[in-house]
Amino acid sequence: MSSVQVDVTNRDRIQGLCDRILQGGSVDREEALWLFELEDQADITDLMASANRIRQHFKGNRIHLCSIVNAKAGGCSENCKFCSQSAAYTTASPRYGFVDAEPLRHASDEAKQNQVTAVGLVAAWKGLREGPVLDEVCDRIREMAADGKVRPDASLGLIESQEVANRLKEAGLACYGHNLESSRRFFPEHCTTHSFEDRLRTIGFLKQAGIKICSGGIIGMGESRADRCDLAMELRAIDASVVPVNFLNPIEGTPYENMEPLPPMEILKTIACFRFILPGKEIMVAGGRTVNLRDLQGMIFMAGASALMVGNYLTTLNQSVEKDLQMLRDLGLSPDWVPEDDSDHQGCAQKSCGCEAENQAKPMEAALTAGQA
Ligand code: SF4
Repeated sequence: MSSVQVDVTNRDRIQGLCDRILQGGSVDREEALWLFELEDQADITDLMASANRIRQHFKGNRIHLCSIVNAKAGGCSENCKFCSQSAAYTTASPRYGFVDAEPLRHASDEAKQNQVTAVGLVAAWKGLREGPVLDEVCDRIREMAADGKVRPDASLGLIESQEVANRLKEAGLACYGHNLESSRRFFPEHCTTHSFEDRLRTIGFLKQAGIKICSGGIIGMGESRADRCDLAMELRAIDASVVPVNFLNPIEGTPYENMEPLPPMEILKTIACFRFILPGKEIMVAGGRTVNLRDLQGMIFMAGASALMVGNYLTTLNQSVEKDLQMLRDLGLSPDWVPEDDSDHQGCAQKSCGCEAENQAKPMEAALTAGQA
């Protein structure tokens, strides 16, 4: 009996991995790295189409929206090379101490008006320990939680003990942002004042306290594709619920000010690879979207993103929230926030069931079908 040689094309292999994920399976590191290394435009388009199918399968057509408030700006003791808020570099970024309640009330009002689910308090400092600053942080979180307009999140650096994490939880914090930033190997290339292990330790305290983890990284700092792959694998290992993917926006005065931007197709491919590795998670495109993707921003959802950071970033501007909401409508997508009086959808708020958007999904489906043909 003669054996028949069957050529497995890249398209077949991508499709096979996608089918496995849709059936509840996963990709291993070798398979994931192969995806990151794809170069051919047609392969990347196939990859994005499959990543979009995975997104739709796990997240429906609802998009999770978050915004952030710079609750304490500038003068940070750490030396992260991408950051304009580090005291180690001379940049035009503002400096002020921890904000009081009024700006946060304003941010909550604005977020609710724009159908944004959560507002994160972000502070430029090394981290949090027991003391008057922690008391103040807990007061702000308690006030926002009591106000009930949005979910208060926070990103306040390293946490020094289990007690600190427990106090944040008691104050009403549901989700804490703490990026791993890059792979374990690449981390010391961009920061030497604290370590990857310090970040993992903080995440351990937060998980122990029952706080959801929002953790991702920054792409485009000179790391390799293998580093991006390893970052995504680490995020899978820590079981991050929300995965912000930032793309370097080189800031004048920082060591990365002259870093070459990544080509938009490399960025879209990276998002698609993250969707393959983290199929059921919220993959959120965050900083650097506007400056790096320009007119291709809408394609992030076709590449598998299911969440979006809206409003201005900590020290840089974003496109307007109105424009982002219009972009979602044009693609047949809608925010996962549900108004209190929308009784048809009360049961599916935050669950991304896609019921409302199901009948509007045609524009993007049509675009992808054309891409696969
Ligand atoms: S710890 Fe945060 S605020 Fe401080 S330099 Fe690093 S990224 Fe910037």
